[in-house]
Amino acid sequence: MYTVAVVLAGGSGSRMGTRIRKQYLDLGGHPLIWHSLNAFQESDVDEIVLVCAADDLDEVRAEYTALFDKIGAVVPGGRERYHSVYAGLCAIDACDRVLIHDGARPFVSAEIIDRCLKALEKEDACVTAMPSKDTVKIVDDSGYAVSTPDRTRVWNVQTPQCFRFPLVKKAYDALIEAERNGTLGDVHVTDDAMVVEMFTDTRVRMIEGSYDNIKITTPEDMTVGSAILNKALTQN
Ligand code: C5P
Repeated sequence: MYTVAVVLAGGSGSRMGTRIRKQYLDLGGHPLIWHSLNAFQESDVDEIVLVCAADDLDEVRAEYTALFDKIGAVVPGGRERYHSVYAGLCAIDACDRVLIHDGARPFVSAEIIDRCLKALEKEDACVTAMPSKDTVKIVDDSGYAVSTPDRTRVWNVQTPQCFRFPLVKKAYDALIEAERNGTLGDVHVTDDAMVVEMFTDTRVRMIEGSYDNIKITTPEDMTVGSAILNKALTQN
C-alpha cells in the first residue's frame, strides 16, 4: 500500500491580514506549514506532495525538500482550494491511497494520521471530523433561519480527508471537466468529500479527528493555536 499525503499551502491567507502569507507565520518557532509536514514526515505515509502558491514555488521547494525527505514534488496551486487539490493529485504518478490535508491545520497528530491509515484498510473514502458542539442553522439569503438540523447528526469536517487514489482522482477529473464544460453551476466546493459525494456512489465515513485540529484562518486562531501548542508541550 503506497500512501501519499497532499499538503495544501496554496491559499492567499487574506483573512489573516498579515504581510507574510499565513502558512509561513511563526508558530512555536516554526512556520505554520512546517508542523503538518513534520507530522506526515514522521508518519507511515510514504510520500508528500506539497502544493504552494506559484510565486513561492522556488523558495518553498528549496527550503522544504531539504528539511523533509518524503517530499516528492512541490507544485503550484490554483485559484480555489479544489484547483490546488487537483494540481496535487495530478502530480502523483500512481499510488493506492491519498490523504489530503490543509497545511493551515498544524495540529494534525500521529494518532489522527494512524486512524486515517487504519480506516482506509476498510473504507474507500473517509474524513476526519468532530461532532458539532454548536447548533447549526440553515439560513436564507436574508439571514433568516430556514431549518435546524438535528445537532446529533451534525459533524464539523476537518482534514486529513482520505481516499483510495483512483476513486478521488476520478471524482476530481469529473469535477474539473464539469467546470470546463459549464455544468458545475454555482456549487461551492469546500472539501474533498463533497467531490466524491457529487461524482461517485461511494459513501464517505466520518472518523475521529480532534477538537485541537483547528484550521488557522484569522488572527484569533493564532492565539488559540499557541495555547494548543503550549498544552501539547507541557503534556510531553
Ligand atoms: O481557504 P481555506 O481556509 O479553506 O484553505 C484551506 C487550505 O487550502 C489552506 O491550507 C490553504 O493554503 C489551501 N488552499 C490552497 N489553494 C487555494 C486555496 C486554499 O492550497 N487556492
